[in-house]
Amino acid sequence: MATITDARLLPEVAAFLESGPLGGIIAGGTARSSSGETFETRDPGSGQALAEVDSLQGDDVDRAVRAAETAFVRNDWAKLSPNDRGAMLHRLADEVQRRKKVIAQIEALDCGKVYWQAEADVQNFVDTMRYFVTMSLQVQRRSAIAIAGHEAWTVRQPWGPCAFIFPWNFPFLLAGWGIAPALAAGNTVVIKPAEDTPLSTIYLGRLAKEAGLPDGVINVVPGLGGVAGAALAAHPRIRRMSFTGSPEVGRLVAEACGRNLVPAKLELGGKGAAVVFDDVDIAATAEKLVQAITFHTGQVCCDATRWLIHEKIYAPFVEACAERMRKVAVGYQLDRATQMGPVVSEKQRKRVLSYLQRGRAEGAEAVLPGGEAKVPGKDGFYVQPALLAGSLDNVAAREEIFGPVAYLASFSDEEEAVRLANQTDYGLANSVWTGDLGRAYRIAEAMVAGNSWINAHNVFPHGVPYGGVNKSGMGGGVLSIETLFDYWRSMSVVRPLGQ
Ligand code: NAD
Repeated sequence: MATITDARLLPEVAAFLESGPLGGIIAGGTARSSSGETFETRDPGSGQALAEVDSLQGDDVDRAVRAAETAFVRNDWAKLSPNDRGAMLHRLADEVQRRKKVIAQIEALDCGKVYWQAEADVQNFVDTMRYFVTMSLQVQRRSAIAIAGHEAWTVRQPWGPCAFIFPWNFPFLLAGWGIAPALAAGNTVVIKPAEDTPLSTIYLGRLAKEAGLPDGVINVVPGLGGVAGAALAAHPRIRRMSFTGSPEVGRLVAEACGRNLVPAKLELGGKGAAVVFDDVDIAATAEKLVQAITFHTGQVCCDATRWLIHEKIYAPFVEACAERMRKVAVGYQLDRATQMGPVVSEKQRKRVLSYLQRGRAEGAEAVLPGGEAKVPGKDGFYVQPALLAGSLDNVAAREEIFGPVAYLASFSDEEEAVRLANQTDYGLANSVWTGDLGRAYRIAEAMVAGNSWINAHNVFPHGVPYGGVNKSGMGGGVLSIETLFDYWRSMSVVRPLGQ
């Protein structure tokens, strides 16, 4: 049903979109919705229909979980040597690498993501897979325990079918962050992509088959959150759940898992701060913060959305930000000159505009008012970046907007900066900007969150754990050795000596 018309469409992408309705992937085959229901996914940049997708139901999700269980128990995925399993996962990474441009275009079209950012997301998937596979070969899974009179050890075993529910902002990258450690540890997976952006995950499910992964190791269940997502979260036979998305839905997922005593890892929203001291290079720091808040049109959980500026540089800093932000080129995501694409949907555009309006109604000053943006020839979901300023009690300073909107306030000393940064229920990521490293270390450690960055924002090297606390998450995090350990259950074995 692809109705998108763009000369840049790669033949493989056109063929994929036209092969719809695009089913899920269960046990290596195409999975149709048992009810026959489908949903449509759109190109946020043009508003045009992209593809029709099967909307999987509760009984379809049940089939997917059972397929993952069969692949785990009967098809010996878990019992493969880490080397053999690793070789297969490297082959999957090779296939993704080989199709990088195809997957990146699918991702850019489905999410409204600027093309070069989509390419970076696909590369990140490859790097994540290789990182966890390599680590899984090196980690000792057996540890002897020295106990008098006994031979004893612990051993780490995979759990079984692990469930993943993902949001719409980074579907392919987050799939890598989620499933790579689970698969490398010997688990099988069922993935529920977001209904706004399911396409790259469906493509991944197809690639798994081509790469030679055993059927049922990667299953994909596209569908509506309240149907397919809820069925997956409530399924009694999943062994672990990893949810990435809003705190509101995270709570429902954790409740459903709690009823079955299934451990749930939640990666949720944020309302991060950037604390800027008076010794920074004003133009360079303003440039970096504007880049951060306009990256993927501000639809980034760990963004710096509250900019706390030392009072001595407040006025020139705000002016530098406004000047830089006015120059951001808003446009279609496949156009080379575009710096900021559309938001993901009309619903998301309304959400951003409504926060701007409510923020101003509560007294925020509109340094740059934002609002709808027009892109000639494209009927997409575009907004202008915005800068609001004023009291941090304002709704736009308290709640997650998920758009290119930064909220500015000033502080006078370190103590006030930390107090303001911590004045939030969220706890995902903050940054501190100063040339004084002693001060940077103090502030970085005093801000309550899973992650603090110094003189940078949005930094994710493989090996550094990334996760949230409080309303931003619980139960783990991603991207580090601890994540691999999350996907092994630890058990002990004891033999009394002489028995
Ligand atoms: P969302 O919570 O609305 O949806 C996330 C997923 O949950 C989707 O796949 C959706 O279909 C599914 N879902 C919806 N209702 C469900 C239900 N009742 N049961 C089970 N699943 C259900 O989030 P979103 O709007 O897709 O994404 C934006 C949110 O994600 C923001 O809050 C953002 O900060 C957060 N996020 C967090 C991280 C992180 O690493 N901490 C990363 C990306 C996004």
